[in-house]
Amino acid sequence: MLRRLAILLIGLLAVSLISPAQTPKRIAIRAGTLIDGTGKSPVSNALILIEGGKIISVTPGAAPPPDAQLIDLSRATVLPGFIDTHTHILLQGDVTAADYAEQLLKESIPYRAILAARNARIALDHGFTSLRDLETEGAMYADVDVKTAIARGEVPGARLFVATRAMAPTGMYPLLGYSWELDLPHGVQVVDGVENARLAVREQIGHGADWIKYYSDHGYYLGPDGILHSQVNFTDEEARAIVEEAHRLGHPVASHANGADGIAAALRAGVDTIEHGAGFTPELFDQAVKKKVYWVPTAMTLAYVAPGRADIWSKMPEIQKKAFAIALQKHVKIALGTDAGAFPWTAANEAEEFHYYVDYGMTPMQAIQSGTSAAADLLGWGDRIGTIEPGKLADIVAVSGDPLKNIRELENVHFVMKEGVVYKNSFQ
Ligand SMILES: [Zn+2]
Repeated sequence: MLRRLAILLIGLLAVSLISPAQTPKRIAIRAGTLIDGTGKSPVSNALILIEGGKIISVTPGAAPPPDAQLIDLSRATVLPGFIDTHTHILLQGDVTAADYAEQLLKESIPYRAILAARNARIALDHGFTSLRDLETEGAMYADVDVKTAIARGEVPGARLFVATRAMAPTGMYPLLGYSWELDLPHGVQVVDGVENARLAVREQIGHGADWIKYYSDHGYYLGPDGILHSQVNFTDEEARAIVEEAHRLGHPVASHANGADGIAAALRAGVDTIEHGAGFTPELFDQAVKKKVYWVPTAMTLAYVAPGRADIWSKMPEIQKKAFAIALQKHVKIALGTDAGAFPWTAANEAEEFHYYVDYGMTPMQAIQSGTSAAADLLGWGDRIGTIEPGKLADIVAVSGDPLKNIRELENVHFVMKEGVVYKNSFQ
C-alpha cells in the first residue's frame, strides 16, 4: 500500500515537473526558399516561428530561438498549405452514370463516410490543408460528420468547408433513367418552387452546411454560334430564392454552371462562385468581374472524364482552355478547384490542377496563388489561411524543387503541417 502511495506521489511530482514545459511549445521552421502565397518574390533562408498553431513571425536570416523546436527545411521550397475549392470526398469517381449509380445503390452512407475520411487524409498527404467539399452526392449530411471528426482531431485530414446535399429540380440530376416503378435515391436534395427552395436552404444550414450549392444547368451542347450552351435547371425565381435565403442567413452560394446559359442564369441569381464554367463567354466574364464572382475551373476533371463520356465532353478541355486565356486578360478571380471525387481519389493527385492553369496561361506564381491566397479569399478565410504571414494558422507545406521553374514540383509534397501539427516530413 505504502509502495503504491509512493509511486502515486512520484507520478504526481513528475506531472507537476513536466507541466511547465507543456506551455505552448514554439516551433521554428528554417525555410531554404519561402514562397509565401501573397505573390511576392521568393525569400531565401527565412525563419518561420510558430506558437499555438499560428505563425507569429517570418524573418529572413534570423537564428532560431534556443527554446524552439527546429524543423530544418533549408533544402526545400516552403509554401502555404494548398486549398482545393471543389471536391467530393464522398465520391470515388463518376466518369460514367453507371459508376455513380453503383455508389448510390450499393454502398451505405457509413461505408462512404469511411472512404471520405480516407480521402481527406489523401488530400492532406498531397499538401491540401483545406478543402471546400461541394456536396455529398446522395450521402446526405455525412460531410458534416467527417468535418467534425477532423476538426476534433479524431482522424487526420484536410480542414473541411462543406455544402451538404446541393439542390436541383425534379428530373434534372441522377439517378435518372430507371423504371418509374422504383423509388430511387437522389444525388441531390430535389427542390421545386420558391418556398421549397427556401426550406431546403434552411434545412441544409440547420444541419451544418457552410456553403449552399445548386446545379444551374445540365445537357451541354455546342450551338451554331460556337458557344457551349446548356439547359437551365431552375427558374430565375427559384434560383434567386436559393441565393437570397442563403445570403440572408450569412452563407455563400456555389453554382455548378458549365454552359453559357447556366452561367448567365447563375450570375443573374447572384451566386458567389461559378463551378466548371467551360462555356464562359467574354461578356459573361465581364459580368463575373463586375459582381466579384470567383471562377473555379476544375480543369483536371474535365480532362480526366472527357475520354469516357459523350462527345461534347471530349471538346470541353479545349473550349475551357480558350475561355481561360480570356479570363486572364480580363482579370477574372480564379481559385483552384479540381472536382476530386469525379476522378477516384486513389487515381490522381489533386495538385495536378496547378499545371493545367500554367498550361492555360497563368504564371507559376499566379497558379500558386490560385490554390493558396485566392482560394482562401473565396472561402472568406483570407485573414486565417492561404499565406505564410504573422497571425495566420500554420498551414505549411514544402517541396524539394523549384515550383516557379517546374510547377509539377507541387505534385511531390514532402512536408505537411496543419495548424502547427506536422503530418508528414520526409526531409528528415
Ligand atoms: Zn463537382
